[in-house]
Amino acid sequence: MSDAEEPSPVRAPLPTETFVTTVSRVRAIGHPFVRITFAAGDLERFRPVGADQFLYLLLPPVGREELTIDSGFTWDGLREMPEAERPVGAYYTVREHRPDVAEIDIDVMLHEPAGVASSWAAEAKPGMPAALWGPRTAYHPPPEVRRQLLIGDETGLPAIAAILEAGGPPARVIVELDERTALELPRVDDLKTTRIDRPAGEPGGDPQLLEAVRALSDLSDAYVWGGGEFDSMGAIRRHLREERRLSATQVSLVGYWRRNPSEGAG
Ligand SMILES: Cc1cc2nc3c(=O)[nH]c(=O)nc-3n(C[C@H](O)[C@H](O)[C@H](O)COP(=O)(O)OP(=O)(O)OC[C@H]3O[C@@H](n4cnc5c(N)ncnc54)[C@H](O)[C@@H]3O)c2cc1C
Repeated sequence: MSDAEEPSPVRAPLPTETFVTTVSRVRAIGHPFVRITFAAGDLERFRPVGADQFLYLLLPPVGREELTIDSGFTWDGLREMPEAERPVGAYYTVREHRPDVAEIDIDVMLHEPAGVASSWAAEAKPGMPAALWGPRTAYHPPPEVRRQLLIGDETGLPAIAAILEAGGPPARVIVELDERTALELPRVDDLKTTRIDRPAGEPGGDPQLLEAVRALSDLSDAYVWGGGEFDSMGAIRRHLREERRLSATQVSLVGYWRRNPSEGAG
């Protein structure tokens, strides 16, 4: 996760923790997502912190079945572990938290090329162990904003849906999606949606998302949140901050993944 060029909008409203848990259900929910439900274990003590709350999914090292960490996990501790023992993983948004049954759903995009987390998700089965580190947030609309613009690709969709469900000011959604991806957003009043299709199998992060934001009229009273490809989010942030002069508190665009991971952290 990265938010180069500006102070990070990411906050941890509560002290972060590691929740050791278990996969309880796996459902295909339409291209390209699989919904994974984690239940029980440490999730009894999970406390929600915000609409776009996200966790780092910690998994067994590739080729292993058992977790090599416990609820005492820390990032400093990880650096001390022999490489073969280190957990692997990635960040995912809490699509739904059901405190009454101590369950959390995440919607994982099965992208190509795959990575360790998406490969794990593609094969996930009830009973498999995992841990979730967090939660943190990046969606913090100032109270005075009159409307919100929510931007993303497939990786941002779970957060966009959760943000819409949480209420808040009238929203416009702009998403760039593979033409095969179904767009089903929660029904909320005054929602305007712009969908940009990209050809099947293309990786995303094209300039059309920036062009769609450029085409919007005045945004001076809006809050802009986004989660998507790193360079795409960076280009939109520069446009909003440098050309439109929106304040830092009005703009929270987070690089959720990197199309060119060799160029830096993802
Ligand atoms: C705060 C936050 C919240 C997120 N929430 C979600 C979520 O709810 N659902 C979700 O699916 N993702 C989400 N992501 C994005 C997810 O963490 C990344 O896609 C991550 O790279 C997946 O890890 P991996 O191990 O599968 O792939 P990696 O090992 O990181 O990458 C392997 C290869 O896959 C490519 N790749 C990675 N992601 C994509 C992609 N989306 N499309 C095309 N190619 C890709 C990389 O460029 C690389 O070549 C979120 C990220 C952040 C920072």
